Amino acid sequence: MRLAGARWRVLVSTALSHRVVRPARRLQHAPLSEVPWGAELTVDRTSTVPLAAAWWLAARSPHSIIYLPLRQTPANCGVWSRKLDLVLLHHSLGFRPSRWKEVRARLGAGSPQTVRLPERPFPVFDRADHDRRYHREFRDLLRWDVAADTLFVTGSRLAFNLAGEELRMLAEDVPALLAKDPTQFHTGTVQLCRNLRDRYDPTAQLRFEYCYDHR
Ligand SMILES: [Zn+2]
Repeated sequence: MRLAGARWRVLVSTALSHRVVRPARRLQHAPLSEVPWGAELTVDRTSTVPLAAAWWLAARSPHSIIYLPLRQTPANCGVWSRKLDLVLLHHSLGFRPSRWKEVRARLGAGSPQTVRLPERPFPVFDRADHDRRYHREFRDLLRWDVAADTLFVTGSRLAFNLAGEELRMLAEDVPALLAKDPTQFHTGTVQLCRNLRDRYDPTAQLRFEYCYDHR
């Protein structure tokens, strides 16, 4: 499915001075749960577009909280443990996940808006850009916390954009590959740093896996 020009209908709310953007329509197949190596989101073809749109919006919206209430997704495929919602946000907001329950309870109906993706939503990086992530002084990592049945992925514009190609491939390239050979196994992987009290473990992953039964 092409991301260029894709439209994503959202609801925008302001709760406790935070701008929160969430999908106007429930994602039908995007269950998220914790797994031993991090977290896994089991997708079908159509759910990849709102996910990529949310990721793109998160990269360019340092003042918004992007909220995907994925516990509402009817599918339970690939769920290992309790289902989680997903929140994407910039660390410059200084938002504490412990406040989320209170914010979430105050979202109200929200006002409808339409997000339209540009021709090329995500920049293309070369190998050297990606390798910089492994340098000790590199700060643009995606960090991860779990609170209030929600996985929080926190980063900078660069950190979200560095993972954008994975989201683009899932939406645009994998459906074509699966059409050719439906027996193939496809995943996309975003590296995360997991919050372990006072330090971040850089080995965790957020894995996007195509559902075998509902591709
Ligand atoms: Zn499924």
